[in-house]
Amino acid sequence: MTTVQSDSPARPPRVVTEDLVEQLTRGVIGRGRTACHSPLTGDRLAELPEATEDDVALAFERARAAQPAWAARPVRQRAAVLLRFHDLLLRRQKLVLDLIQLETGKARLHAHEEVQAVAMAARHYGRRAPAYLRPRRHAGAIPVLTRVSELRHPRGVVGHISPWNYPLELSVGDALPALAAGNAVVMKPDTETALTALWARAQLIDAGLPPEVWQIVLGEGPVVGPHVVRHADYVTFTGSTRTGREVAERAAARLIGASLELGGKNAMLVLDDADLDKAAAGAVRACFASAGQLCISVERLLVHERVADAFLARFLERVGALRLGAPLDWGTDLGSLASQRQLDTVVRHVEDAVARGAEVLTGGKPRPDLGPFFYEPTVLAGVEPSMLVCENETFGPVVSVHRFADEAEAVARANATRYGLNSSVWSRDTRRARRIAARLRTGSVNINEAYAAAYGSIQAPMGGMGDSGIGRRHGAEGILKYTESQTVAQQRLLPMAPSLGLDDRRYAELMTRSLRALKTLRFR
Ligand code: NAD
Repeated sequence: MTTVQSDSPARPPRVVTEDLVEQLTRGVIGRGRTACHSPLTGDRLAELPEATEDDVALAFERARAAQPAWAARPVRQRAAVLLRFHDLLLRRQKLVLDLIQLETGKARLHAHEEVQAVAMAARHYGRRAPAYLRPRRHAGAIPVLTRVSELRHPRGVVGHISPWNYPLELSVGDALPALAAGNAVVMKPDTETALTALWARAQLIDAGLPPEVWQIVLGEGPVVGPHVVRHADYVTFTGSTRTGREVAERAAARLIGASLELGGKNAMLVLDDADLDKAAAGAVRACFASAGQLCISVERLLVHERVADAFLARFLERVGALRLGAPLDWGTDLGSLASQRQLDTVVRHVEDAVARGAEVLTGGKPRPDLGPFFYEPTVLAGVEPSMLVCENETFGPVVSVHRFADEAEAVARANATRYGLNSSVWSRDTRRARRIAARLRTGSVNINEAYAAAYGSIQAPMGGMGDSGIGRRHGAEGILKYTESQTVAQQRLLPMAPSLGLDDRRYAELMTRSLRALKTLRFR
């Protein structure tokens, strides 16, 4: 049975003061009023400006006016802002940890994962942006005669729409490369977690970002979101597959690019030679970080039948020992769900599974004694394709366990989903694990780790296949997507056409000989 942190406070300390809200919303455009609430108590945290259609247009106008001067700064100067932001973030983390916990209900350790991820992104793009963005020389059409370089220009104003589950990482974490590339950003975070995004903006301004370059607009997603897409030069969206599809359609109609980071139904494979203690500990992290409200968290545990009982005994023991609660302090393992909507989905999926014959191995109940949206970490067995929980993303602390007989079955089961975000493979034979990884249809695979190894490897791309998205964050792709490439080709001495008295036929013969020679000489 899950141990409960009994001192989970009904009323967390007052962190969000009027002064703080005033300070964070300075310069934020919005003539309406909206509010954000804490899932820990259901209480209103702050009243915030809500953007109308005209406000969104004004935010873009201001961002567009400020962008050229920002882009004109040497990339090293822009990158230096990210590095200063990195230091401020680490120095001032206490307040943002409180804000993340208050706005999402997650445990402090999981809030700190966001600080870590954003610090890594700030350091990486702070150091590497100049190299990623520098002009590149390419081989020309005709060696010596053609000189080619590729330039990278900012797209202009990036429209950025982000969800509530990782409000620091998915707001500023994705804005940093866009800004480093010389863009302005107009962001629409989820209103319920807007304070965290606003805090991040305030720190970047302290670090030297011109305030107009990063605008934040707030309001209902279906109302404000489409206006953001309508004005943007490029859209970066993180959220559900359903909304992502709509955003992609609107972007396509305008012929602007979009990167989409969407949902998942991620699998963890425990092979018969896995270290079962480590795998069980890893499974707890994989399934229950941020109460399972993490796009790359695991909702399907696939375990080799030979080790399934031994693994499950270890896993269930660890799950039973998890400490629930989200005081604004360290020491709990699992926080609250973020909203009534999340709780409803979790309850619906578990009730449906049980009604259709699934077995609850542990958990399976809401915990209103801890807070309005707490739910026990839950492990299900006997989950069949007819059940809601089988193929749909639950986005909560619920995992189903399946047994497999051999590698081929494990891979087939893992890939039997329209999603393709993340997966995790556990084996002592890492060669075998890497071979299996290459057969999994997911944008990232973690070997002997839950999700953090791939996500934290910031130089490597991160994103989804299939219904999990288009495009990647992190690494070169994570910044180059915010740029337009421009090829500048300079022709020297001779034109790319008949010249020096050659007629068309002679010129064609000469070109044919040249092409053969270029291949023989191994030109690429
Ligand atoms: P959501 O799609 O409901 O909302 C995401 C954002 O889009 C919010 O800011 C929302 O206000 C806005 N929005 C809503 N309707 C819109 C519309 N019609 N046009 C434009 N914007 C609109 O998703 P959510 O419930 O907030 O987030 C959870 C989902 O996000 C899960 O499916 C999760 O897997 C996914 N997610 C994916 C990643 C990733 O990197 N792949 C990361 C985190 C979350």
